[in-house]
Amino acid sequence: MRTTVGIIGAGPAGLLLARLLHNAGIGSVVLESRDRAYVEQRQRAGILEQGTVDVLRAAGAGERMDREGLRHDGIELRFARERHRVDFPALTGGSSVTVYAQTEVCKDLIALQLKEGGPLLFDAEALAVEDADSEHPRVRFRHEGREDVLECDYVVGCDGFWGVARKAVPAGLSRVFERTYPFGWLGVLADAPPSHDELVYARHDRGFALLSMRSPTVSRLYLQVPEGTDAGSWRDEDIWDELDRRLETDDDWRLERGPVTAKSVTPMRSFVHEPMRHGRLFLAGDAAHIVPPTGAKGLNLAVGDVVTFARALVHLRATGSAERLDAYSETCLRRVWQAERFSYDMTTLLHRAPGAPPFEDRIQLARLRRIAASRAAETDLAEAYTGFPFE
Ligand SMILES: Cc1cc2nc3c(=O)[nH]c(=O)nc-3n(C[C@H](O)[C@H](O)[C@H](O)COP(=O)(O)OP(=O)(O)OC[C@H]3O[C@@H](n4cnc5c(N)ncnc54)[C@H](O)[C@@H]3O)c2cc1C
Repeated sequence: MRTTVGIIGAGPAGLLLARLLHNAGIGSVVLESRDRAYVEQRQRAGILEQGTVDVLRAAGAGERMDREGLRHDGIELRFARERHRVDFPALTGGSSVTVYAQTEVCKDLIALQLKEGGPLLFDAEALAVEDADSEHPRVRFRHEGREDVLECDYVVGCDGFWGVARKAVPAGLSRVFERTYPFGWLGVLADAPPSHDELVYARHDRGFALLSMRSPTVSRLYLQVPEGTDAGSWRDEDIWDELDRRLETDDDWRLERGPVTAKSVTPMRSFVHEPMRHGRLFLAGDAAHIVPPTGAKGLNLAVGDVVTFARALVHLRATGSAERLDAYSETCLRRVWQAERFSYDMTTLLHRAPGAPPFEDRIQLARLRRIAASRAAETDLAEAYTGFPFE
């Protein structure tokens, strides 16, 4: 098999990249190790930045998102039983975010790709990227029990944190920046109407809680739990009781309960691999960087990377200049590090590390009260949450 751009992974990064290239008349082949149902049902992110929404719309993949997505003009910070709303459009000159689940973004992009785009092979596991530093990189993969080779002009590794693409960068050229956190998120999906019309981020002495939603009838809720917690060890009733405690207020706000339909634990990690390019291999999305989900940045960063790659390749074709492609890693990393910084800030602002001294509790509360009292501090949060611009 031969193509212009070999894409490994059909998560949001790989699927959107295939769509952008198709729209620009550039051929691609997507290799995805899992089956279609698995990819479409994997519960993950749900907050789309303004820039992500704009890109999906411009790519012709925004029709259902515009119909079913929920536009949110703010979030609520909850601490010491107080409530503070951050008004995004007022602070950013009009930006907002959209609640539309990653599962739905993937379903929309898969349907478009299968209808109009180039080959998208499920159950096709990339085994290795070879000759990344040559004019003709190749992806060795296994599909329907047979090994095959995809010859490409460029390979984009969109294969997530556990993929194979990153391994093709020689160890001597790689630098990894990493931080793990001594807690995770217990996430539940529940058939319950959201208890608030915007996301609620709660800092509590018992730990962090997040009230989020997928639709007007489905809530997505999270609790900070110790690292290594087994989701099955939490009974549904205990989850609701703990959410009630951590989200408590002094007014008559009430948590809506309902049947829990899924629960899982997500570890928290910050990770950046530099560079994001080696020869004709480009890394995009979780293959190159991970953020703790507190800032809702993971999916949005993946979108930023593939937009940068697609624009650079279109620029090369239009002008003959590889300048933007050559600058891919530096361009993406500037945005990645801003998102890393914001996600780290939000995580340390809202979570209680085990054994943290009371001094840190007071500092957290002081930081939260500063955001509530200072338009400058609040604007910083609003700008970062609604998204850093694409360069
Ligand atoms: C459990 C979990 C919960 C999360 N929750 C949130 C959240 O609430 N908010 C938020 O903003 N972000 C969240 N994230 C992060 C967000 O979902 C990711 O940043 C986003 O999925 C990145 O997209 P991607 O396309 O880069 O990678 P992925 O979505 O990981 O896609 C990679 C794809 O590559 C495929 N693949 C892997 N190896 C191979 C191979 N060898 N050959 C072929 N295919 C391969 C995988 O099957 C997968 O389909 C979460 C992540 C996880 C893991």
